[in-house]
Amino acid sequence: MAYFQALFDRICGDLQRSTQEMSSDFLQLSTNQQRVSYALSIPSVHDYIRVKPMFKGKSGMEATKLREFGNKMFGQKDYESALQMYNESVLRAPFDPQVNHSHDHGDMNGNSQERAQCDKHEVTADDRNEFSLALANRSAVLFSLGKYDLSLNDIDLALRHGYPEELKYKLHERKGRCLWNLGRDQEALQSFVTAKEHVTKSQLNSKKRKSWKATVDKQIAELQRSPSSETSTVSITNIPSVSYGTNNTFPSLSTAVEIRQNEQRGRHAVAAQDIHVGDVLIVERPYGSVVLPEQSDTHCDYCCRRVSASLPCHQCSTARYCSRECGDLAWAQYHRVECRYLGLIHSGGVGGMGHLALRLVNKTGFRSLQDFDKVLEEKTARKEKEAGKDAQERKSESNADLQYEDFPGLNAEGVYTNDYNSVYHLENHSAERKPSDLFRRTVMAVFLLRILQNGGFFQVPGEDVSEEDQLLIASHLLRHLQMIPCNAHEVSEFEFYRGDPDRCRYLEVASALHCTMLGMFNHSCDPVINRNFYGDVLVARAIKPVGKGEEITLNYSVLYTTQSRMERQYKLAGQYFFKCSCQPCAENWPLFYDMVQDLQRRNKLPKLKCRQCFSVLPGSEDKDVNKVKCAACGEDQELQALRTELDTIVDDVFTKVGVVVTGEVESSLPVLERCLERMEKIVARPYGYYDSCQEAIKQCYGIVGNCNERTTP
Ligand SMILES: [Zn+2]
Ligand SMILES: [Zn+2]
Ligand SMILES: [Zn+2]
Ligand SMILES: [Zn+2]
Ligand SMILES: [Zn+2]
Repeated sequence: MAYFQALFDRICGDLQRSTQEMSSDFLQLSTNQQRVSYALSIPSVHDYIRVKPMFKGKSGMEATKLREFGNKMFGQKDYESALQMYNESVLRAPFDPQVNHSHDHGDMNGNSQERAQCDKHEVTADDRNEFSLALANRSAVLFSLGKYDLSLNDIDLALRHGYPEELKYKLHERKGRCLWNLGRDQEALQSFVTAKEHVTKSQLNSKKRKSWKATVDKQIAELQRSPSSETSTVSITNIPSVSYGTNNTFPSLSTAVEIRQNEQRGRHAVAAQDIHVGDVLIVERPYGSVVLPEQSDTHCDYCCRRVSASLPCHQCSTARYCSRECGDLAWAQYHRVECRYLGLIHSGGVGGMGHLALRLVNKTGFRSLQDFDKVLEEKTARKEKEAGKDAQERKSESNADLQYEDFPGLNAEGVYTNDYNSVYHLENHSAERKPSDLFRRTVMAVFLLRILQNGGFFQVPGEDVSEEDQLLIASHLLRHLQMIPCNAHEVSEFEFYRGDPDRCRYLEVASALHCTMLGMFNHSCDPVINRNFYGDVLVARAIKPVGKGEEITLNYSVLYTTQSRMERQYKLAGQYFFKCSCQPCAENWPLFYDMVQDLQRRNKLPKLKCRQCFSVLPGSEDKDVNKVKCAACGEDQELQALRTELDTIVDDVFTKVGVVVTGEVESSLPVLERCLERMEKIVARPYGYYDSCQEAIKQCYGIVGNCNERTTP
């Protein structure tokens, strides 16, 4: 059983023995602060919840073993496995963060225990060797895999981190070949020259030296004879920007999206203009994201991208980064506190939800949270004072557009800042929760508080943190533990199997909180927007055309095509506390499989729309009817012409579906997007092939975002 659950069971057992009145007392409490305070006053909560560091540290010996495994696989030309082993070796090897990279130990001042911990990883010369050896070997396998830029990074890092002098000639020579392949001829030449200089320090005998120099000279001659024609650039997938320009109030949204608020729909988004399939409507960085433990072996702890050559934290062997920048940002923003507790956070039973709650608080920082609470108190006091104002006057105020005061997250300039204020005000359904559920979350908040306390979050030793400060932080944690289940969502990666569409799927890699997307859009089982990720950055595109003034919806993880209405409603009520009234729910649309079967049997034709006014033409699904008068505009409609047109569109769709499965996006995506627009105009939904087209479009978006190509074994 996970650590936290065992603790919780023990606490509950004690409570049952001592008093029966716990739950009724607890039920009376109305604020998170009171709940935490109550929990802390229970002796067993106070006594049992102790946390100790739990993390995988560095080990030179382990690193050597892993590297030797890697060498074996490299020898067998199993490059992917070799790369994995070298990655682990790089992570496990002790290294000196002071080399060209300083991190601040000053924050631990006055804490002798922390000091002692850090002295433990003083790096010895041998250890330094191990780190650089692992990097150097990894650079070889990266070179073999054609990843020259990554190979180059490793070579430079190895050279800076004490790679043995007598071996350096090999690295400089490899560096030359990397640069050459990257089209940086001049630098490549320089590296070959440096390599030749370094060979004098090698342990090769003079005969071997000579022949080695000769091979380098050959490469130099070759390079000078046929210089690289073009400078190739590193290819990173660029994050798209929103269509039609950035929204003034909501910087993550397109100007084509307008946020409104009313009684019936709550806060919701509508189209400020006609929107087309493929339009990018949201591009948003999350306030916080945490990589799931299962994915932490393969994804950057900071940006959530898949990494091929991991870079380590200087202290633990768990967190890995795609770049030095990500590592530095992570350390400064949160990892300093979490590093030595990562094992406990991952396997302690608090789940992704607990980790994310901890992260939100950790990232915001103690001082900011103190300030935040002060401002909030002042605001509440002011509001209470104003409550005495003339009722009529207040009513006229609330009719105005979005207002700073009653629209949390807007700053004084009327811009949605996506800061802690937005996070704090996300829906949390506190009132709907059962006392037992609330109590469990409260105890978890205390558990997370202890981790922060011992991890140095308060910048003073854990036992010196005042009760008041503990209460403040724990109530923020508790708030998030209630808010996250209805707001956090997964950051995903598309697992693409070329030519095998049935195996393609989305893999959950992290949980994240994107406030704009969450707070502003309502759910539909047939949503307008589809979300994809670039790292942890959310990109949402329209997957159906929307007319000006229509609502823009997104999907909270249940689609009408794959789940029955009953299943959907059950899930939405349980997790988000509402009853869905979208069109598929209201009209009980069939599942995708059933729609397509119906179409294939062809005993009923699809319902068509009027060419003139796009109203649905009743009776048009009858095979024997060829002409109808549109009830809305009175125009006569030839059904055969419409049916023929629909058939050509469907043919186009399936031709392109066949192309998309091979991974070819560029030529197929624009065609599919156009087909969907045309279908929208002539056929009434539900119509299975509309969804087929949409699926193919979604697959294209999957391929251009976070995507991991897998090969079918
Ligand atoms: Zn350190
Ligand atoms: Zn990264
Ligand atoms: Zn670490
Ligand atoms: Zn629905
Ligand atoms: Zn009409």
